[in-house]
Amino acid sequence: MCDIHERIQRVRDSISEAEISAGRNLGSVRLVAVSKFHPAESVIEATSCGQFLFGENRVQEAVAKFEQVRKVVPSVELHMIGSLQRNKVKSAVTCASCIQSVDRLELLEEIEKHAARMEKRIQVLFEFHTGEDTKSGYSDTDDLLRSVEFAAEALHIVPCGFMTMAPFTQNEKMIIDSFRKLTSVQGLVRSRFPELELTELSMGMSNDYRIAISEGATMVRIGTAIFGSRA
Ligand SMILES: *Cc1c(COP(=O)(O)O)cnc(C)c1O
Repeated sequence: MCDIHERIQRVRDSISEAEISAGRNLGSVRLVAVSKFHPAESVIEATSCGQFLFGENRVQEAVAKFEQVRKVVPSVELHMIGSLQRNKVKSAVTCASCIQSVDRLELLEEIEKHAARMEKRIQVLFEFHTGEDTKSGYSDTDDLLRSVEFAAEALHIVPCGFMTMAPFTQNEKMIIDSFRKLTSVQGLVRSRFPELELTELSMGMSNDYRIAISEGATMVRIGTAIFGSRA
């Protein structure tokens, strides 16, 4: 149990160090604690040291777990970070404040439909494929721009920025290239849609979050370094 506290503290310290050495303001990077495959008890344990923002990648697991968690800690915030099937969108919109893994227009249309019915505004990030081994995320900027255009008009969608996963490698150059690709996509989209904020860059996981922070991440998604191995 104590482990989670210690690990969160260690991660926080290391985020602060990375912020300072990148010349960024302390507190400019938000920590998303990725609790997939770990039980509600672990999430509740994390909240007791002030961690209230969590990420999950499977909707069914998230719904069940966070129903339990919210009975004890109503104020937890949940972001969906995994690839989403259309028939799971309704549940995702119900239980999350942000969907970080939007990767196609069809999903946005479904998100808007359900959010409108619930009279809820939901944040989204556009996931861009920047070199990770699996194929999740937009890989075509024209596709992405069409989706951003839809989101800009949709009344219940708040487009906030971008998300990516770097390749799982020890090759730092490849990781940096991947994060820079996301930053350049952000620049392109913001030049076309200057009226949108699009300030969030969700990039960096347990093995590469220090690099991500030096490349401008505003959110890091960390699982293993907090909750331990999922194996
Ligand atoms: C699992 C997952 C993470 C966290 O990965 P760790 O290496 O355990 O920190 C981050 N982002 C996404 C999209 C994930 O699926």
